[in-house]
Amino acid sequence: MIDAHAHVHDSAFDIDRAAMLERARLAGIESVITIGTDLAESRSAIECAAQYSFVWASVGIHPHVFNTVTSVASVAGLTEELKKMLPSSQKIVAIGECGLDYFTRDATQHITEQQKEVQKAGFLAQVALAQERSLPLIIHTRPSLDCMDAYDDMQALLQSVFASYSGAGRQHPYVILHCYMGDARVTQRFLDFPQMVFSFTGNITYKARTGGDLDRVLDMIPVERLLVETDCPYLAPVPYRGKRNEPAYATLVARHVAEMKKISYTLLEEQLQKNTQRIFPQLTY
Ligand SMILES: [Zn+2]
Ligand SMILES: [Zn+2]
Repeated sequence: MIDAHAHVHDSAFDIDRAAMLERARLAGIESVITIGTDLAESRSAIECAAQYSFVWASVGIHPHVFNTVTSVASVAGLTEELKKMLPSSQKIVAIGECGLDYFTRDATQHITEQQKEVQKAGFLAQVALAQERSLPLIIHTRPSLDCMDAYDDMQALLQSVFASYSGAGRQHPYVILHCYMGDARVTQRFLDFPQMVFSFTGNITYKARTGGDLDRVLDMIPVERLLVETDCPYLAPVPYRGKRNEPAYATLVARHVAEMKKISYTLLEEQLQKNTQRIFPQLTY
C-alpha cells in the first residue's frame, strides 16, 4: 500500500528517519511520496527520495508561500526554480503540493482578495508545469472555517483548466485532492471531472469529521478514485491523535476507509495498489 502524501524529509524525523521508514515497511507500506512545500523543502524531498528506494518525491509550492508574495514576477520566478529541479531526479512523480488555503486560526483574520489572487496565480503556474511534464498534480485545498469557499474556488479553477487543456488527444494528468475534506455538494462536482482523485488522511478518524457527511462522501466516491495518506508528521489518526504521525499509520486510515465503505481491508489494499500504478506510473517497485 502507498502513503500518497507524507513529509518524511521533515526535520521532525531527523532523529529516527531510517527506523521510522522501516516501521512503515513492516506495517505493509510499499511506497511513500514525500511532498515539497517550498523550494528548500522540495530539494530536501528529492534528497530523501535519493536515499531510500521506496520513497518518491513531489515538488511544489504551498499556497501559504504565496501569501507573502506580492508580484506576478515572483510567482513566475518561483515556478521557474521548481522547473529547474525536475531534471535532477528520476524519482519526482508529481507536482505539488499546491492549491488554495483560506484557513486562518483567528476567525477575525481573513485571507485578502489580493492574497487569493496570488495563490491562484501560483497554483495555475504549477498546473501548467504538471501539464507540460505530464505529471500528476497534488492539490492542497483548505477552506475558511465552517464553509467550502476554497473548494468552490478550486472547482471553478479546475473547470477552466480542464476546458482549456489541449493535450493532443491525451488525457489531462491526474489531479489528487489531498487531505480531502469536501462535503457531499462539492464532492459531486469534483466527481464530474474524470481525472480527479480523492485522498484521505488521519482526520477522518476524528469525531468532528466523522460526524459530518463523511459517510455520504465516501459512499459517493468509487474505490478506483481513492488514495490514502498520512500528511505526516501532522494529522495522526486515532489512537495517535496529537502525536507525531508517520507512514505506518496510513494503514489505520485505510482500515477506517474500508469500514466506512463496508469493504474488506484486503480488497481496499488491492485497489489502492492498482490506483497507485495507474495514477503514478513513474513509481516502480
Ligand atoms: Zn496540505
Ligand atoms: Zn502536506
